[in-house]
Formats: sequence, structure tokens, C-alpha cells
Amino acid sequence: MKVSIDHSKCVSCGSCVAICPEVFEMKEDGTVNVKDEFKEKNIPKELESKAREAHDMCPATAIVIVE
Ligand code: SF4
Repeated sequence: MKVSIDHSKCVSCGSCVAICPEVFEMKEDGTVNVKDEFKEKNIPKELESKAREAHDMCPATAIVIVE
């Protein structure tokens, strides 16, 4: 499962970082990103449910999941 953020939609609320800090991070400039180690790569199985929760809770539907 791969995760990415559509930055044209993200409102930098930080919800995904709060729910799943292993995968998402907020930079000093306030932008939120998938951590470099997980960009374009499958995330570990044990983080999938938390990443899905972050996806479901994103108020801007900015998190894209590719199975
Ligand atoms: S939850 Fe959605 S809108 Fe909020 S920072 Fe994460 S990707 Fe952006």
C-alpha cells in the first residue's frame, strides 16, 4: 500500500501527523508530507491501518492511497 498527499487539496491541519506520525510529517514551513522513506514505496503492513485512519479522517480528502 502506497500513500501520497495531494498538495493542491491539503489544508495543513496536521490531523494525519497526529494520527500516524510514523508516515506523515509536518515541515517547518507548515507543509505536510509523506516521510521520504515512504515516498513511492509500500509502507510497512503494521502501519497500514493507521494510515487508513489518517486517510479517513483527512478533512480535505487529500490523502491518496494506492493498494
Ligand atoms: S489530514 Fe489531510 S488536510 Fe490535514 S494535513 Fe493531513 S493531508 Fe493535509
